[in-house]
Amino acid sequence: MLAASHQVEQTPVAALDAALRNATPHEVIAAALQAIGRERLAVVSSFGSESAALLKVTADVDPSIPVIFLDTGHMFAETLAYRDQLIDILGLRDVRSIKPDAASLARQDADNELWFSDPDACCRIRKVEPLARALAPFAAWINGRKRFQGGLRAAIPVVEQDGARVKFNPFANVSREDIVAIYRSANLPQHPLVASGFRSIGCMPCTSRADAGEDERAGRWRGRGKTECGIHTVATSAV
Ligand code: SF4
Repeated sequence: MLAASHQVEQTPVAALDAALRNATPHEVIAAALQAIGRERLAVVSSFGSESAALLKVTADVDPSIPVIFLDTGHMFAETLAYRDQLIDILGLRDVRSIKPDAASLARQDADNELWFSDPDACCRIRKVEPLARALAPFAAWINGRKRFQGGLRAAIPVVEQDGARVKFNPFANVSREDIVAIYRSANLPQHPLVASGFRSIGCMPCTSRADAGEDERAGRWRGRGKTECGIHTVATSAV
C-alpha cells in the first residue's frame, strides 16, 4: 500500500501506469484499491451520461469506496434524481455530494450568472475549489475520462500524477462499445436526458444537445471556446 503521505516521490506512478496500461477497468480499480487503500482513495463522478459504467465497476470492486459528486448548484434535477437512483441500484455506500462554499458564492456569484460572464471563474468556485477541498483527505482519485472523448482527453494515461495525488483513469482505454456493453450486461438505466439528445451532461446553463456527427462533448460550453471545467487541468492539490 502506498504511504498515506502526499509526497510525490512516494507514488510509483510510472510503474503503476506501465503495469495497468492494458488492464480492464475492474483490474485498474482493484489495483488502485490495493495500492492506495479505501480510506485514501475516492471516485469522482458527475452522474452524467456514461457515469453508471464507472460506478458499476466501482461497486463491483468495493461499494464502500467514497464517491464524490460536485453539486454545483446548477445541476439538472434529472441528474440529482439519477444520482439517487444509481446509489440505490448499485448499493453505493459512501456518496458525498459536495457543494460550493457559500461565502465564495455570495462574494463572487450572488446573482448566479457568473457562468455567463466568466465561466472559468464559475467553474473554479463551483467545481475546482470544492473538489480540492473534498479530495484533501485522499491520496488518489479515480475518474471516468475516456480517450475516445477526444480533445485534451485523447492521450490520457491509465495512471498519472495530479499534483501531490495519483489519478487513475480506468476507462482511458475503453471504447464506446465497451461502455454500451457494461450498461447492457448490468441492465443499467440511462441518464434521463440521454433520450432527449444530451450526450455529455454537466451543469444546466453550460450543457446543450450534441448532434450525432459531433464530438460527444460538443454540447458543453458550446460557443464559449472552453472544453474542460478545470478539475482535470488544474492540479487539485494546487488550488
Ligand atoms: S459548468 Fe457552467 S455552471 Fe457549471 S460551474 Fe462551470 S461555468 Fe458554472
